[in-house]
Amino acid sequence: MSGAGPRTFVLECDVCHQPAGPGAYFCSSCDVLSIDPERRSYAATRWSRLGAFALDYLIIWLSVGIGWLIWLAVVAPRGQSPGKSLLGLHIYRTTGEQAATGYVWLREFGWDAALGIVAVALLALLGAVASTVGEFFILWFWLTVVFWAFSFFDAAWVLWDRDRQTLHDKVLGTLVVERAKERV
Ligand SMILES: [Zn+2]
Repeated sequence: MSGAGPRTFVLECDVCHQPAGPGAYFCSSCDVLSIDPERRSYAATRWSRLGAFALDYLIIWLSVGIGWLIWLAVVAPRGQSPGKSLLGLHIYRTTGEQAATGYVWLREFGWDAALGIVAVALLALLGAVASTVGEFFILWFWLTVVFWAFSFFDAAWVLWDRDRQTLHDKVLGTLVVERAKERV
């Protein structure tokens, strides 16, 4: 490590020698994961991220969840979900190593569990606030709409985030990468 010079905020990427972008995990020019010592991991593209989401939902739907769970048990040790395994994506921690099996399961379920607890709490609040059963169902309907919108917003965050993280990636400290892909 050549740490002799003064610290600057815009660092040069040691793979493509372009400015790497301040504070980002990935080089803003060549997408290499700058905290990977072997420099073999690149940011997954936004389209492959969205594709993996779609595939995971499709597999869950087609296999009634069961097949997806079995598949997850097989690929979680490789830092993948079923959708990510089809597209060659891996989940990394923001510390630079591949997410361990337990952390993959936490990423797949911890976020949903937290949202579920919030939903149940809000539902209980609605029950206390609503004066009639009809009013309760109207409030419930809108709560559902808000939750779907939030889930969509969470996933869509990869479209504008510099490090292509979803909101749950930010909370859990994870990144999604493609490995050993040669780019110009
Ligand atoms: Zn670069």
